[in-house]
Amino acid sequence: MEELVGLCKRRGFIFPSSEIYGGYTGFFDYGPLGVELRNNIKQAWWRDFVHRRDDVVGLDSSIIMHPKIWKASGHVDGFSDPMVDCRESKKRYRADQLFFAPVVLDGETRGYVAYVEGADQPTIVKLAKKVRDSLDQKQAKLDEDKLINEAIEFTEASDAVRASTLGPDATKVGTLTEPREFKLMFETKVGPLADDSATAYLRPETAQGIFANYKNVVDTGRVRIPFGIAQIGKAFRNEITPRNFIFRSREFEQMEIEYFIAPDADWKSLHREWLDQCIDWLVSIGLPRASISEDIHPADKLAFYSQATTDLMFHFPHGEQELWGIACRSDYDLNQHQKHSGKSMELFDEATKSKYVPHVIEPSLGVDRTLLAVLTAAYCEDEVPNDKGQAEKRTLLKFSPKIAPYKAAVFPLLKNKPELVERADALYRKLQKRWNVFYDASGAIGRRYRRQDEIGTPFGITIDFDTIEKDGTVTLRDRDTTEQRRVSEAELLAFLEEQVDG
Ligand code: ATP
Repeated sequence: MEELVGLCKRRGFIFPSSEIYGGYTGFFDYGPLGVELRNNIKQAWWRDFVHRRDDVVGLDSSIIMHPKIWKASGHVDGFSDPMVDCRESKKRYRADQLFFAPVVLDGETRGYVAYVEGADQPTIVKLAKKVRDSLDQKQAKLDEDKLINEAIEFTEASDAVRASTLGPDATKVGTLTEPREFKLMFETKVGPLADDSATAYLRPETAQGIFANYKNVVDTGRVRIPFGIAQIGKAFRNEITPRNFIFRSREFEQMEIEYFIAPDADWKSLHREWLDQCIDWLVSIGLPRASISEDIHPADKLAFYSQATTDLMFHFPHGEQELWGIACRSDYDLNQHQKHSGKSMELFDEATKSKYVPHVIEPSLGVDRTLLAVLTAAYCEDEVPNDKGQAEKRTLLKFSPKIAPYKAAVFPLLKNKPELVERADALYRKLQKRWNVFYDASGAIGRRYRRQDEIGTPFGITIDFDTIEKDGTVTLRDRDTTEQRRVSEAELLAFLEEQVDG
């Protein structure tokens, strides 16, 4: 993760927000390459799930909506996580992401340590040693296995356990509070009044904007059940412990679909179809199939209205974590809005001549988490021969051409030969009309290739003397294999079209 964060900063993918003021936890800015990658991910998603489907239409709803929407959806009353404060360090942790484990000295439990999910073993052992030292037991034998194998979620900790637990950032035991509810929605005031009636919320998900507009879309007459409404947009959550780079932040973007189906539809098969389509899409943008797994939520952990939820998990640098949640939410949300707004959410099904409130399947994906997954999968190092034929280490980002920030880079072999430069410039301008491409004339050609490898540009196109003196062909270099071949301009265009837009 550290290498990725470093590369993202150095090459202009992602910067910490407000860095000149010391940063602002949970917020990030996307630099020149990051914004391209981000937009390409969103465009690929929109193209594949909206444009290339006959049964999904798009929507862009406002971020701030009537506060009653969040009352109806249950967010005002229920959208909170239990959190634990440390009275000493003033740090705050999500209780379901905090674990406690016994400090066993010479076979006897003498206290506990609490650590955040994903903490590494040396950190946990160091904490346990602090407890041991505070008990004047420096010579006692610490059971390190129990620190890992007997860890339990902090929500389960009794008062007695808490009183003898050393927190992750504390120096004394007993500084962690019991878990308390913490509101995740950001509040703001709308209009000139500052009283409670002016309270509104920054949306914590895009889904409710879809439910709130479902009737409008149905009334346009363009859709027939089953159909989906898709939306990409910002969401805000006052996460207690934003961490793991852009994995969990306070401002992020979601790509969500509500797929409306008849109440008697075979939702189990449709859920499976959506899971398969979502996996295929992730693979199509370059994630290895082997890094994706499914986490089926057990029935006793589902919300009462939910029929099934399966998360697609990805192997991130910090472990296997949720990337895409695909939930069968029954007719719960539409019924809630029908109840709270007094407006009918029923639709008339032409095929069966019946009226009903449809059920939904909701695939919900984070743009930023997808970007982190893409970066994780793309980052690699290998050795390739340099200009002198010696093996040289290189860092490269193996982005799929579909989402790579630059699709190709155009190079004149030499920058002091006007014929080469003119020809390269003309090709660059032509390609630029269709794709985001890069032009680079400076330095040895090997170094220019390497610079593009590091930012994930899949193809290098070199204009050399054969191009201008012989047949007009150019050298096309592949980033991953470094193989080069000569192609005509027509072949080049057809190849790029297939690779980038295919
Ligand atoms: P978690 O349990 O990790 O907090 P969640 O189950 O509450 O997540 P959902 O409400 O299902 O998440 O959100 C749908 C998707 O939005 C997630 O799968 C994830 O890709 C993305 N997402 C949710 N919260 C965040 C966040 N704080 N930062 C970045 N992406 C997020």
